[in-house]
Amino acid sequence: MKILIIGAGPAGATAARLLAENFDVTLIQDREWDKPCGGGVKSKIFDEFNIPKDIIKHLLNYVTIEFKNKKTKIDLQGDNLAIVKRDEFDKTLRDLAQKAGAKLIYGKFKGFENKKALVNINSEKILFDYDILIAADGVNSTVRKALNLPPVPKIITHYARTQEYKVDTCEFFFDKKLGGDYYAWAFPHEDKTHIGSVGESFDNLCKYLNVDVKPKGYFIPTWQENIQIQKDNIYFVGDAAGHVMPLSFEGIYYSIKSAEILANAIKNNLDYTTEWNKRFYKEFKFMKQLEILMKKPILRDLMIKAQTFNKIQKLSVNLWLGKGFK
Ligand SMILES: Cc1cc2nc3c(=O)[nH]c(=O)nc-3n(C[C@H](O)[C@H](O)[C@H](O)COP(=O)(O)OP(=O)(O)OC[C@H]3O[C@@H](n4cnc5c(N)ncnc54)[C@H](O)[C@@H]3O)c2cc1C
Repeated sequence: MKILIIGAGPAGATAARLLAENFDVTLIQDREWDKPCGGGVKSKIFDEFNIPKDIIKHLLNYVTIEFKNKKTKIDLQGDNLAIVKRDEFDKTLRDLAQKAGAKLIYGKFKGFENKKALVNINSEKILFDYDILIAADGVNSTVRKALNLPPVPKIITHYARTQEYKVDTCEFFFDKKLGGDYYAWAFPHEDKTHIGSVGESFDNLCKYLNVDVKPKGYFIPTWQENIQIQKDNIYFVGDAAGHVMPLSFEGIYYSIKSAEILANAIKNNLDYTTEWNKRFYKEFKFMKQLEILMKKPILRDLMIKAQTFNKIQKLSVNLWLGKGFK
């Protein structure tokens, strides 16, 4: 069986790696690039997917949250948050896919012609045959557009790299003027700091951190129920499926996990949507509800201030790290 995967970010590269041992897998990627990203990922992904750990730039055992001039240290309770450089991380995942037997081709998917995928390779138009097509082409999915499916719901984020503001760990800012309805952030990246905000508050963040940088804008999915993740023999994974955790806006881990769920569903002839819902629907729904509550100033105040209490902090960390209500 021929599987064609469009997009070789974390989702596409992982799907290719996991399917290559059983099927004829071709992976199409438009370019080598360093995707705008904080690069924060649960460190357990390295063991779960046997990813070489030498690409981890920082391994953090605490983060901080700042709100109303108070900074609170959040202990990760024995777990770690890893920081990776996205160009290196994505390339490593692509290398693993190739080692597993997937063919990697640089080209840009443009649409469908006679039930084949049309890919531009060095200005030449090539048609690819497939039995299954996996769309892992990110938040602006061209495959989704080509199928006339509604786009993934999304929000603009602003992001920049700076050397003017140094951090030892990931800092999260919850004041509305810095992070809008969500949050702003500053993550360590070797000699630089990556800073960003969800929504339109980036200028205020720069003023607050006393840095002068030009941001890049990039979309991030805002998950909601009923995003279609399959149409006939075409499946969507990662950002192209909207699989970014509400509130935390963590996408790397969940894009890799959605690829795993899909690979497993294909191998075992299971329904992908049902399998994804079984594994993640409850967590995503719960976090979506928290995200909505956090938009109300009184509740935002209560929920963030509650993080100073050890028990509440532990509960939040467990939820964030995917350990459920422990
Ligand atoms: C500013 C910002 C900060 C973020 N910070 C974090 C963070 O710290 N931690 C975290 O977990 N998540 C973070 N995210 C989210 C995370 O980046 C995404 O959820 C994650 O990259 C999704 O992986 P993916 O493989 O689904 O999509 P992508 O990483 O977007 O990969 C899709 C790939 O497909 C390629 N492609 C697109 N169209 C085509 C085409 N037509 N033909 C061929 N190839 C194509 C693209 O070049 C791309 O490499 C952040 C997002 C943003 C915007």
